[in-house]
Amino acid sequence: MSEDNPATAVARARAEWGGAHGGLTPPLDASDTYRWPDAETKPAYDYGRTVNPNRDMLATVLAELEGAAGGVVTGSGQSAALLALLPLPADALVVAPHDGYGGTFRLLAGLAERGRIRADFIDMKDDSAFESALEREPALVWFETPSNPLLRLTDLARRPAQAKAAGAATIADNTVLTPILQRPLTLGCDLVLHSTTKALNGHGDLFGGALLAADPARLEALAWWSNAAGLNGPAFDAWQTLRGLRTLPLRVQQMQSGAMAVADWLAAQEAVREVFYPGLAGHPGHDLARRQQAGPGFLLSFRLAGGAAAADAFVAGLRLVTLASSLGGFGTLVCRPATMTHRGMPPDAQARAGIHPDLLRLSVGLEDPGDLIADLARGLAAI
Ligand SMILES: *Cc1c(COP(=O)(O)O)cnc(C)c1O
Repeated sequence: MSEDNPATAVARARAEWGGAHGGLTPPLDASDTYRWPDAETKPAYDYGRTVNPNRDMLATVLAELEGAAGGVVTGSGQSAALLALLPLPADALVVAPHDGYGGTFRLLAGLAERGRIRADFIDMKDDSAFESALEREPALVWFETPSNPLLRLTDLARRPAQAKAAGAATIADNTVLTPILQRPLTLGCDLVLHSTTKALNGHGDLFGGALLAADPARLEALAWWSNAAGLNGPAFDAWQTLRGLRTLPLRVQQMQSGAMAVADWLAAQEAVREVFYPGLAGHPGHDLARRQQAGPGFLLSFRLAGGAAAADAFVAGLRLVTLASSLGGFGTLVCRPATMTHRGMPPDAQARAGIHPDLLRLSVGLEDPGDLIADLARGLAAI
């Protein structure tokens, strides 16, 4: 038995989790508090905000998938992001991608405006911008690769090592690829962040996050902060995320093969100006993706030749694909990042990041790829 194989790590029954009756599915332990044998002897589980068996089970499997010492399971991806920032000293500098997730930008910029931290948003591909950011002695360097929504890649064999040499800690948001396709800790990052709301749960019915650490001391500090600030997630959601995780490798493969088919088709359409997908040979991150990812993933974006009006007409013409802002779920979603996922980013920052008003992002789900392509053709016909 190879427990290193993700399919085995997610699917195997763990006898030690079976509960009093030896169930193959771990029981839900929703208790807020636990009985002490006496007032001196603290039990392993004492209070549900601090520790919970279902959160621990989920953290164990996620840590196996990511090659982490362990993890903290939070109530959302954003609370995991906040947790990563809580241990920083006042006025610490955080260097982050200028084209990252809109919520990360909102959180870092909001804290920076109030003087809690300093935040530098840079183009992670730009060597001189990265080196000069390191000269400003950041406490934390934030990676998101591929970036969302433009699927730009950052070299994880190089950048975390450079940051480490400059004394900075490093974090990678791995929500877009999942540990099935990329394992940032094994490439030298200190922390990995997930919005488990997305593909890890995969069923679109909860919010959750996780922060995984390579180093046990860092993990212990994060668990302390998560308890202190009350960021830990609900037991039921951890239980349900573990259930979703059972099929993660299968779902990622199916969504990815759909995305590949859709990207190939879009790239051949005259009404499509540009397709951003690392699986396409012409994508600037194609070779890097082949080195550091096990596949190109299920997320892609594209621009239409007709501009923002064409993008709106295209979306209005779709019948199968839904206009909504999330990713990694069972159903294919389209969104217009400029007015949806990235609306927290001011227009000038959007323009710098290349998030144009006519950019559309697709998170390809589990539908038959032929049906998806037929729907996208309906959208193009409506322009
Ligand atoms: C959704 C998302 C988040 C935030 O997660 P929530 O669960 O919505 O709080 C962070 N990073 C990325 C890349 C995301 O897609």
